[in-house]
Order: sequence, then structure tokens, then C-alpha cells
Amino acid sequence: MNIINARLRGKPGLHRIEMEGSRISAIVAQAQPMQASLPAELDAGQNLVTAPFVEPHIHLDATLTAGEPNWNMSGTLFEGIERWAERKALVTHQDTKSRARKTIDMLVDNGIQHVRTHVDVTDPSFAALRAMLEVRDESRHLIDLQIVAFPQEGIESFKNGRALMTEAVAMGADVVGGIPHFENTREQGVTSVKFLMDLAERTGCLVDVHCDETDDAQSRFLEVLAEEARVREMGERVTASHTVAMGSYDNAYCYKLFRLLKQSRINFVSCPTESIHLQGRFDGYPKRRGLTRVAEIDRAGMNICFGQDSIVDPWYPLGNGNILRILEAGLHICHMLGYEDLQRALDLITDNSARTLQLGDRYGLEVGRPANLLILSAADDYEMIRSQGQVLTSIRDGKLLMQRSPAQVTRFPA
Ligand SMILES: [Zn+2]
Repeated sequence: MNIINARLRGKPGLHRIEMEGSRISAIVAQAQPMQASLPAELDAGQNLVTAPFVEPHIHLDATLTAGEPNWNMSGTLFEGIERWAERKALVTHQDTKSRARKTIDMLVDNGIQHVRTHVDVTDPSFAALRAMLEVRDESRHLIDLQIVAFPQEGIESFKNGRALMTEAVAMGADVVGGIPHFENTREQGVTSVKFLMDLAERTGCLVDVHCDETDDAQSRFLEVLAEEARVREMGERVTASHTVAMGSYDNAYCYKLFRLLKQSRINFVSCPTESIHLQGRFDGYPKRRGLTRVAEIDRAGMNICFGQDSIVDPWYPLGNGNILRILEAGLHICHMLGYEDLQRALDLITDNSARTLQLGDRYGLEVGRPANLLILSAADDYEMIRSQGQVLTSIRDGKLLMQRSPAQVTRFPA
């Protein structure tokens, strides 16, 4: 299959992209627009062709459960964890699999082909983890799935938390998670980070920690995670998700912290719709936005990307799989509608996220790499955001995975 009349990010003019089997075999500049001649030729219509979108932070084991059995009435993160503990008692293997599959279909329909999901392993039966390990295998034709062993109720403050984490990795989780700000004491938060970094170093897993997901300016586990990553030289394999307390740190502390963060080389994930909804809940006015310093992290040359976190679960009642919606909201919330930010906005849901997931040469629009790509509905990043553009075509392993027909508007004379 070939794609003609494609615009590529960062390259002038039009291009033809050739695929052979499941690989990209050639990318050739076109002197002028072409007419499709072969049946297996797709016309991008002078719109952008990109690598697939990436979902770097979602909880597929919790999706589509909002209100079961009770709604989160306060809208806080902590009530969300309480409501999830009630729903978790009802989780079955089939229930988890069918909700995860429905959600993966939503992601696929919006051009996502790489997903990192956190799976709650503070459950001695591992019902959700067993289900998600099967989903990972059964969904390979749709997405590449990384599973994080995520201790929702703590490593140190949940019974047998350390053993559960170790067992989850032995069962096949790809990434070690954590939640230090939720542990009962500050000391437990620190020892939980050391434990999870030991586990990852020993097993060769990646790391992705729910870190300082609170407006509490005293929540300072990011410095612990970054220092552990720096000393062990594991930074590129380590991700700090949320870090929303950074939005409440004073500038003097943050200035010092940034030096360590840069040295550590860790990655960051922000979930802007989730955080603007869950945080700021204990504030009067002025009310904090409850996000990490996305623009500052980006401008300091560190790697940051956006994720959806939740789709219709105890923490967040909305969501439809469309990460472009998260990108647009995030750019607004983070004061990133400047011209230069808009020129490269798609980095936040493509290349930056792929780096977080350590996809390496399994990702990207280059000859020899997997023929996984998208045709979008606009010619550049700015126009995709402004027009609330859509994914028109998703191709995986050189084959059509999804096509969308844009809505037609008909105007009538007065
Ligand atoms: Zn999360």
C-alpha cells in the first residue's frame, strides 16, 4: 500500500509513503500533487500523515465503571479511591476484559496504537491483572499495550503490598508503578520509591509512578524518584506521572528541583482534564489549577506528554478515547497557545509519548520502521488544533485499521 500527497511534520512539500508488508519501505518527495492511480493507493489530500497517537497513561481496568455502585460526589481523588475500592470487590475476569476491550476500541477509533495502562495490583486475587495480561495478547493486532503494576492502595500501607508488587512483575507486568503520596507516612512514601526502583532495576522493567498527585505543596516524592533514577542511571526508563504538587511548589524550591530533574533525565506525563477536575477541591478562591508545570518542563528541554488517565470511572465521569480533546484542553490549561507551542503541539501526544514508553525504532515515520501511521484531517499541528481535527485513517502493519468519513455540512440559500 502507498500513501500519496502526504504532508510530514517538519518537512516542506508533499510526499509519497510506500509500505511493503508491515514496514515503511520508502518516503519520496513529490514535485507536485498526484492523482491516485493504483487501487492500493491512498490519497492523503495534502493533509498530515503522522506516526500513531500514543496513550501513555490510562487505567483500562477501571474504565466504564462510574456510578457502580456509587458516584464520586465530592469529585476528589481520595473519594475516587474509596469508590473504586467498592467497585473492585465486584471485579471479575470477564467484566475487566469486556470493559478494557470496549475502551481499546475507542482508542483505536481515535488513532491510538500504543498504550500504557496502569492495573491495580492491590488485590490478592490479581483478577484485573490476569484479565489485562490476556487482553495484552489478544489486542496485538490493534495496539501495543504496556501494563504497569500499580499499587492503588499503597505498597507499604497495604497488607503484603511489597509481595503483591513482586508477584505482579513475575506474572508479566512490563512496568513498575507506585503511589508514594498515598502511603500513610512520609517515610513510607520514601521507602516505597526505593523498593519499586530496586524491583525495576532487578527485573529490567520500566518505571511509572503516580507521583505527588495532590495539591499538597509538602508532597515531595518527585525529588526522591528523580534522585533514585539519577544515581542508578535509569532516568530514561523512569516516568513521573501527574506531579501536580509541582503546581503548588514555591519557585525557590522548584528552581533547585529542576536542576535535579534535568540531571535525572526522567520523563513526565500530565493528565490535564483529570487534574483540572480532581485538584483544587480543597481551595477557596483563588483556586489552583492543580497541574504540574508542563510548559516549564517542556521549555527546560525535558520530556513531557499528555494522557487521558480515565474514561468514565470513579475519578472522571467523561471521556471518549479522543486524545486530541486532551491535547486541546491541556494547551489551554497550561498556557501553551503561543505560536511556537501550536506549531509542535502534536509532539505532546506522539513523539514525546513514544519516548516515555521507550518505543525506540518501533515508532516513527521512517524507512524500515513498522508501517503504523495516521492520515489526519488538517495540514499542520496548528490547524489540527484550531479546526478540532480528526484522525481520518489509521494503518497498522501496512493494513487499514480504521477509516472515518468527516461530517458534511450543507448550507441553503436564504
Ligand atoms: Zn492514573
